[in-house]
Amino acid sequence: MSTSTKNFSSNARVKVGHVGLFFDRDGTLNTEVDYLSRPEELKLIPNAARAIREANEFGVKVFIFTNQSGIARGLFTETDLAAIHERMIALLAKEGARVDAIYFCPHHPGYGTTPYKRDCDCRKPKPGMLRMAREEHGIHLSRSFVIGDRCIDMQAGKSAGCRTALVLTGYGEVERAECMENRAVDFVAADAYEAWKQIRNLLVKQAVESK
Ligand SMILES: [Mg+2]
Ligand SMILES: [Zn+2]
Repeated sequence: MSTSTKNFSSNARVKVGHVGLFFDRDGTLNTEVDYLSRPEELKLIPNAARAIREANEFGVKVFIFTNQSGIARGLFTETDLAAIHERMIALLAKEGARVDAIYFCPHHPGYGTTPYKRDCDCRKPKPGMLRMAREEHGIHLSRSFVIGDRCIDMQAGKSAGCRTALVLTGYGEVERAECMENRAVDFVAADAYEAWKQIRNLLVKQAVESK
């Protein structure tokens, strides 16, 4: 365990058990590649794994939630996606980080065939994937956080009652003005690790206040 957890009281840890950290995938944890379809295209953004490792150590649950309409569009299959996520899990594990679950939406309202062509509830900006995590992992969404590089991430988070952090990696810089205009962003951070540090400070503060 890293020294980074030494300052946290065990009390703080107990109180964060139902908090979820929902990371978008492309542009947030790994460098943005249009319709990433092969495992070898997956490259972690510096310190992204560190953010997840420290969140693991802190005691919050960590999820990835990602739109993958490339499946509906026929660009890759669910099997391809499983291989990509296997590599993601392996790269994270190499740095001592793990995710509790990866949620993905393979759908698109306008492309493909059954079962992928549909107006689903999981495609961001809809909050379906966050609600699924609430059901499956007992997450309190109002105490949870979404970290992403696009407005759709922020909107999904807000629809689910989460707080939201926009990172400036991926599309973050490009979409920043639009996201701020929509008032969907609670705070802006340079990258996933900087977002985690701000979230950690908020969680520590809340734990102290609720004593
Ligand atoms: Mg993204
Ligand atoms: Zn979907």
